[in-house]
Amino acid sequence: MSDLQAFREETRDWLELNCPSEMRKPGDVAWGGRNAEFSHPDQKIWLERMGEKGWTCPTWPSVYGGGGLSKEENKVLQEELNSMNARMPLASFGIWMLGPALLEFATEEQKFEHLPSIVKGEFWWCQGYSEPGSGSDLASLSTKAVKDDDSYIINGQKVWTSYADKADKIFCLVRTGPQEPKHNGISFILIDMDQPGVTTKPITLISGKSPFCETFFDDAKAPAKDLVGGLNKGWTVAKRLLEHERTMISSFGLGSRGEVGDKKSGLVELSKKYIGLDSEDKLDDASLRSKIARHDLNSRAFGLTMQRIGEETKIGAPSAASSMGKYYGSEHNKLRYELMLESMGTKGIGWEGDSFSIEEIAITRDWLRTKANSIEGGTSEVQLNVISKRVLGLPD
Ligand SMILES: Cc1cc2nc3c(=O)[nH]c(=O)nc-3n(C[C@H](O)[C@H](O)[C@H](O)COP(=O)(O)OP(=O)(O)OC[C@H]3O[C@@H](n4cnc5c(N)ncnc54)[C@H](O)[C@@H]3O)c2cc1C
Repeated sequence: MSDLQAFREETRDWLELNCPSEMRKPGDVAWGGRNAEFSHPDQKIWLERMGEKGWTCPTWPSVYGGGGLSKEENKVLQEELNSMNARMPLASFGIWMLGPALLEFATEEQKFEHLPSIVKGEFWWCQGYSEPGSGSDLASLSTKAVKDDDSYIINGQKVWTSYADKADKIFCLVRTGPQEPKHNGISFILIDMDQPGVTTKPITLISGKSPFCETFFDDAKAPAKDLVGGLNKGWTVAKRLLEHERTMISSFGLGSRGEVGDKKSGLVELSKKYIGLDSEDKLDDASLRSKIARHDLNSRAFGLTMQRIGEETKIGAPSAASSMGKYYGSEHNKLRYELMLESMGTKGIGWEGDSFSIEEIAITRDWLRTKANSIEGGTSEVQLNVISKRVLGLPD
């Protein structure tokens, strides 16, 4: 038996024993944190077991609490998780964005301090990049950090900070070099949200939910040791972290868990349910059938392209090509939801009330949420700029 086959069998046995039954179906995912909330006791058990094994971050080195798996082993793990329909144990900006940036830019002390707690979901991290007036032109940001002994004192405002009102800590871009050219005066710093100098104010959205906040820093403090990547060198960290964010958003385009193809997107099953089949067992709407078939083909091609980019990229770090994935993945995910709504007819306009099932209401709300895919993590227009300059090498 090959090593990989043996690993598959061990993994399957471990998952069979450790994945609680409630976690083997779709549902909400835990975000962890100091005040972690779990919608079911099994969610907590699943997070603890996966965190202990390092499998919330399967490829991170085991010295920092990760799973220490190779890319091939991780692929096996993901396949086994998929095949038992297991839920993600932890949703976390720490895992998707901060951790990979720390692995590349942090000191050993910083890695040992922050990575193991990310693996276990001990803190809920949020992202403090955007400011009023500094979104696409992020480098124009003006939140200031000034050194005072062994701390930085931070003053300014961030906006669109997702989950800031729930987060324990924020990874933040601050201006530390007011005299430097704008990209050269920025630092990347880690700030605890639980202090008098940090306040948040939720922003209510069309979807009725309010995941966003305005975040205010009034003489907030961060220990100087929490500056990552060096003084005034934050722009390099910031850009790399954005590549990780864009890769994460690209995966939305592939349906849940980013698998190749459309198996888990629900689009085909959903359209069959609402539209029905004709006498030849084909979807009983030729026009929609062809749109869904084209979407399915594009999903497969996109999945393979993302795999190829991943394999071609040295040391597995994302590159400017993440902008291609982000651009296409966002548009593709938006189209998937458009097609779901088209399939559902009037059942796709449910907002609340007994005439619609919970699933129908959830799909309508998720459809609205997808509208933000082409804005968050850098707008589609900005991705096109990055692709033209940094991928195609076109002049400014
Ligand atoms: C769901 C969601 C979650 C988010 N979460 C966070 C978060 O947690 N933390 C955080 O810091 N931020 C977050 N953001 C903010 C996000 O990063 C910004 O919205 C985004 O970068 C765009 O900035 P802006 O909204 O200021 O738009 P602007 O920069 O004002 O852009 C407005 C329009 O002008 C276009 N435009 C601007 N400059 C150019 C250019 N050079 N070329 C062509 N077109 C251009 C844009 O494409 C856009 O259409 C989130 C946003 C969303 C939608």
